[in-house]
Amino acid sequence: MNSRDRRLGMHRAISRRDFVSGVGVAIGVSLLPACARNGEPVAEGVSAYYPPAETGMRGSHPGSFEAAHAAVQGKHWPAEKTDEHYDLVVVGAGISGLSAAYIYRRDVNPDARILVLDNHDDFGGHAKRNEFTIDGRTLIGFGGTMVMEAPKFYPAAAKQVIQELGIDANRYEHYHDNDLFSSLKISRGVFFDKETFGADYLAIERDVFGGAISDAPLSASAQAELKRLFADKEDYLAGMTPAERLAVLESHSWRDYLEKFAGMGEEALAYVQKMSHGVWAIGADAYPAWLAWSDDYPGFAGMDVGVGYEQSADEADGVFHFPDGNASVARMLVRKLVPGAARGNSMEDIVTARFDYSRLDTEENITRIRLSSTVVEMRHQGGELDADVDVSYVRNGDARTVSAKKVIWAGYHSMLPHICPDMRADQAAAQRSSVRAPLVYTSVLIRNWRSFANLGFWRAYCPGSFFQSVRVSRPVSIGDYHYPQSPDEPMVLHLQHIPLEPGLAAPEQFRAGRRALLETPFDTFERNLRDQLGRMLGPGGFNPARDIAGITVNRWPHGYAYSVDAESGDVAWWPERWKKERRSWVDARQRVGNIAFAGTDASANAMTESAIEEAHRAVHGLTTETAR
Ligand SMILES: Cc1cc2nc3c(=O)[nH]c(=O)nc-3n(C[C@H](O)[C@H](O)[C@H](O)COP(=O)(O)OP(=O)(O)OC[C@H]3O[C@@H](n4cnc5c(N)ncnc54)[C@H](O)[C@@H]3O)c2cc1C
Repeated sequence: MNSRDRRLGMHRAISRRDFVSGVGVAIGVSLLPACARNGEPVAEGVSAYYPPAETGMRGSHPGSFEAAHAAVQGKHWPAEKTDEHYDLVVVGAGISGLSAAYIYRRDVNPDARILVLDNHDDFGGHAKRNEFTIDGRTLIGFGGTMVMEAPKFYPAAAKQVIQELGIDANRYEHYHDNDLFSSLKISRGVFFDKETFGADYLAIERDVFGGAISDAPLSASAQAELKRLFADKEDYLAGMTPAERLAVLESHSWRDYLEKFAGMGEEALAYVQKMSHGVWAIGADAYPAWLAWSDDYPGFAGMDVGVGYEQSADEADGVFHFPDGNASVARMLVRKLVPGAARGNSMEDIVTARFDYSRLDTEENITRIRLSSTVVEMRHQGGELDADVDVSYVRNGDARTVSAKKVIWAGYHSMLPHICPDMRADQAAAQRSSVRAPLVYTSVLIRNWRSFANLGFWRAYCPGSFFQSVRVSRPVSIGDYHYPQSPDEPMVLHLQHIPLEPGLAAPEQFRAGRRALLETPFDTFERNLRDQLGRMLGPGGFNPARDIAGITVNRWPHGYAYSVDAESGDVAWWPERWKKERRSWVDARQRVGNIAFAGTDASANAMTESAIEEAHRAVHGLTTETAR
């Protein structure tokens, strides 16, 4: 270990596990939560098994994806045929798969015997809970799906499920502390890093956009450009008709638009490049200008582009965030599906409910949830589309086959052509049009957040850094869960990293990012976050070697669901606003015999409400007589 790593605290015993070539190496075992033995999770079925408390590399964790990748590359497993037969098998225990099981029981058959299979060691899919324990106190973070956006305006089927689970979106104002950050006099910030901008500098937002950015390491011209951009008063397409403006926005990326029409130079462009990372997982170079306009990014001065697009409502209009994000939605679904898995019945008590994972897959359950089980083949018996379906899955290296009257696939479309021989060629081609954007959400437990208070910020955009955003958790207290009110209490931070290759077309960037992500070891994330937090927060008294107490890296190589038009290569960023006639995701999701398709690939829309809506469509699609 070199002296720089030592200074950053790479040697410190904290809650994390390193993986070298897929082999777990326990570090800091004494601080690992009780569910881990000798640094390794205990086997499922033993009540101490509790994956939310696992730290280290999570999300697409080692052990979860290898069988799927092998299947896609053509590997076949001799599967043992079991006598397990179900009314319904659901593939994928994300919000869509869990909703499908719930809706099937509610609308089709309350006594249906259902098996839900998922390749991860936890349920929830992207809706992942991260727990940390420090000084006897449990703090919660989210490893993926973060918020329900405007749940009051969810479409009918999704709204019904949310309401039946007992989630009352109107209560959010009671849980979210609107005053905490202002009472501490902290606001947003921007961290300029020396590699990109020549010097490390933390600007607090009231300075950055209020006009006084003279201390930021930017040239005078870049300062002037950014001030002009964020003042957002100029019409850069003056003299054009609304239709001409729309044509410009539809044919340029946001970056190209700002360069060509707003006269922004390289420094200003470097500043804006990652602003869209969090919401769309793409940078300004491939982020369409019309979408930037619609999302209310600067540079458009309230521009009238005529008919075509409505600008989106402010997301503050009803965002709902549980401390573990939408993992609480997944947990509420599981609590309904598997009696005895967790106590309680309210949106308050779900937050601290401890789940007994040994109850998920027992014979007496009418709905069983089987984790660490990757489906590698699905086919109708005898090739007859009205016959039962054999579903083979790999668990601990062994393949087993169960059968079902009906199957709902709530995984990724792009895998289907490789494992489902019943698929027609044109439908398989449509399924290949699905592409996923990679993302990394990292939760970091720190011993106190005094440095944020000292420096005056709670959230920072970091345009040049490895993690493009760093923030303290949202100030939400629900039920028995209490947000760390004092900066002297421990805190869970949320850091985002979106691996991309600017300059390529968006789908290529996603593919390149996915490859890079699977090759990036845990200690690269750890070293980067220690370095970045040390440089940002050091002037406020933060010492990464001393103050970091736990790290969970949630990597999602298959993150946001998008669809790419096969002919034009265009991404359907917003399916409702897609103008081409061909909609690959609609062709891709057509029922095949007794197999129906849910999940966000089925709507090319990476949103929780879509996951639920698609579950509803898939369930009801299975109840009609027509096979195709
Ligand atoms: C980092 C991140 C943040 C997000 N934030 C938000 C947000 O704030 N709000 C929002 O509305 N949406 C958000 N999303 C979008 C999110 O995808 C959806 O909201 C929703 O959680 C998706 O649910 P799903 O069940 O369709 O898919 P997933 O959550 O992906 O679940 C599918 C499950 O199926 C499993 N699976 C796939 N193939 C197989 C197989 N062969 N065998 C067994 N199992 C398989 C997968 O591994 C996974 O566990 C976010 C997504 C990501 C990646």
